[in-house]
Amino acid sequence: MIDKIKQYQKEFEDRIAAIGLGDELRQLRTDFLGKKGRVTQVMKDMRELSSEQKREVGRHINELKNWIENQIREKTEKLAGSSTQGTENVFDPTLPGRTEARGSLHPITQVMEELITIFISLGFEVAEGPEVESDYYNFEALNIPKDHPARDMQDTFYIGGAKVLRTHTSPVQIHVMEKQPPPLRIIAPGKVYRCDSDVSHTPMFHQIEGLMVDEKVTFSDLKGVMNIFVHQIFGEKTQVRFRPSFFPFTSPSAEVDIQCVMCSGKGCRVCSQTGWLEILGAGMVDPAVFGSVNYDPEKWTGFAFGMGIERIAMLKYGINDIRLFFENDLRFLSQF
Ligand SMILES: [Zn+2]
Repeated sequence: MIDKIKQYQKEFEDRIAAIGLGDELRQLRTDFLGKKGRVTQVMKDMRELSSEQKREVGRHINELKNWIENQIREKTEKLAGSSTQGTENVFDPTLPGRTEARGSLHPITQVMEELITIFISLGFEVAEGPEVESDYYNFEALNIPKDHPARDMQDTFYIGGAKVLRTHTSPVQIHVMEKQPPPLRIIAPGKVYRCDSDVSHTPMFHQIEGLMVDEKVTFSDLKGVMNIFVHQIFGEKTQVRFRPSFFPFTSPSAEVDIQCVMCSGKGCRVCSQTGWLEILGAGMVDPAVFGSVNYDPEKWTGFAFGMGIERIAMLKYGINDIRLFFENDLRFLSQF
């Protein structure tokens, strides 16, 4: 009979190890401890034993009974503990599907595309040029000879020989005019590089350059184009003003300001209380530049303008630190 008890213990051990669900556990308990269970049956069979045998077998059967109770309690707790984990692996076809996180264009790309669309609607074509430029295209052909003080205006990355990382998109003008006779209307969007870094400067940033050359192009054509562009980007009511300035490749030259987009011209910290924000440089193409590309300055006139895309994007969206554009923080980027 004691062998039988040991055999039952072994059987119980094997069965409980293989069990997964609560119902199976209840059935196992019934099989051993129920009215007709194995343990109960042994206890009934004990009636036929002598009192000494009863004592011996009774000790074993009680141990088995207690052991089974403990095993069942432990298994129940274990199943309850893993039940939350367990449901993750259960496929529930009624749950809604997981949506993919939607990406969007980088704010710089968005503003760039917006600018390109505006200028294309005014008859401009997109032109591109290399980011590694010769000293000639970046400076000399644009009327900035060696030792010219204007070279100090731009902190240039020199990369050996007479090569530089272009400091502006203006060299594209020269490439286009060398290949193409006037009249022409181009815009040149792209990356430019300057050795500079703070809240409003990054070593790499984006510019868009514009050039229009034709017979009888005047400063008022430049003003007209700038007005249309500003009104489309910043709103119809935004005031525009031109201030005299200097660039080696244009003459006369101007800096273009817009009414402060933060305070509508009342004066605030962003516009240093002036009510105006500088957004771009422009002017009539200097005859010396036409000389570099063999255009006849007696016959052709033109205007050029250039602006930083980051600057436009910062004003348009009210961003106060240019470095946010390049940190790739999704909390920032997902707002556009
Ligand atoms: Zn202001």
